[in-house]
Parts: sequence; structure tokens; C-alpha cells
Amino acid sequence: MSSIAENLHSFRQKLEGTSCKLVAVSKTKPVEMLQEAYDANQRIFGENKVQELVDKHEVLPQDIQWHMIGHLQRNKVKYIAPFVSLIHSIDSPRLLNEVQKRAAQNDRVIDCLLQLFIAEEETKFGFSKEEVIEFLSSEEFKAMKNIRIVGVMGMATNTSDEAQVRKEFSSLKDISEELKDKFNNLENVKISEISMGMSGDFPIAIEEGSTMIRVGSAIFGARNYGTPKH
Ligand SMILES: *Cc1c(COP(=O)(O)O)cnc(C)c1O
Repeated sequence: MSSIAENLHSFRQKLEGTSCKLVAVSKTKPVEMLQEAYDANQRIFGENKVQELVDKHEVLPQDIQWHMIGHLQRNKVKYIAPFVSLIHSIDSPRLLNEVQKRAAQNDRVIDCLLQLFIAEEETKFGFSKEEVIEFLSSEEFKAMKNIRIVGVMGMATNTSDEAQVRKEFSSLKDISEELKDKFNNLENVKISEISMGMSGDFPIAIEEGSTMIRVGSAIFGARNYGTPKH
């Protein structure tokens, strides 16, 4: 098996000449492995559990940019609000409202992505395009001074049907263009990021205009959820 540093190197080569950034998804992996990636110059890390994100942030170098990529519960926003650099997974107005409140308490502006529902699967969280347009048009949203919507995030259907995945990524790109046209004149909207693509589908995502791929297992190896924690 190739090392973390080698994997990162190969991703850097793939992304060279594009404006696409690599989010190293380190969920379930021990801090030693994150440190190894850090030593190989990786600075953006993504986690999907608040407690794990907070614990790792405490022990790892302070110049890491921590991205929250998983479903975020409102009662946990306060733990990451002091330091999180980007939240990919805003999936409801109520969640964004809580992020606004906690960002204000920390005297920060927190960058956020709106998670859009693009897959066929029923289980994925997210807004529909219509819901986003309605929400961004509201007075409630315009009053949120401590958040900034910098783009969109989506997950494609987990399928080997490439055409299906491509169609879903392409639809996210189209939505992002439409939202940019409609809302980038607002002070708290500056849409430029499209977070799409994971280990299994990032090549398609890059071709379809991704600006941030979220890659876990292709960097750190397969996750083993079965191992008991000590
Ligand atoms: C785990 C996860 C990833 C990375 O998945 P891999 O298949 O390991 O690359 C990307 N995005 C989200 C939201 C995740 O939860």
C-alpha cells in the first residue's frame, strides 16, 4: 500500500493546473495519520463528527483549516464555531440560523456551503434548488451578518453508472451558476465554491467543475468502522 504522503503527492499532480482544492477527509483516522498528511503539507482536513473535529483540532497544528463536512446538529454548532473554517453541510434554515448566532457570539464570520440534494437516494440531507432560492430571497437570510455563503455542496448517487453521477454533478454546477447570478449581489453571499467528488467519483466531479473534492479513503486507506475504540 502506498503512503499517505505518496497519495497526497499523486492528488496534487492530478489537481495541478486546475483551481480545485483537496479536502483530506480524516474521519475515524488517528491523529498520527493526520500529522503525517500535515507533514506532507496538507492543510485542509474534513471531519463529519463534531466531537472528533474538536478533539483533533486541540492536538494538531493550529494552522490547519478544519472543514465540517457531515450532517451537523444544531446543538453542537457551538463547539466548532470558534475555529471551523468552512461548513459544507448547511441543510436547513434553522441550522444556518444557529451558525449565525454562534458566529456572532465568537465575533466571527463563518463561511458556509449550502448542501443541495442532487442524488436519487432518499437518505441524503440537503435543500432542493427551490428551497434555496426561497430562503436566500428572505429578509431573515439578509439579516445574517456573521455567515457567508461561499458555494454549494452535493453528493452524487452511490452508483457505478457514470452517466448518472455526471448528470448529478453537472446539475449542481448549473444550480451554482444560477444562484451566483441571482444572489452574489447580497453582502453575505459570495458563491464561488462547488464541493463535489469523493474517492469513488472525483475524476468526474473535476471534469464537471468541482472546486473542492472531499477525499478520504483514497488518501488514508479504507475506514474500519468495526474496530472497537479504547
Ligand atoms: C466520508 C465522506 C467523504 C469521503 O469519502 P471517501 O469515499 O472516503 O473519499 C466525502 N464527503 C463526505 C460528506 C463524507 O462523509
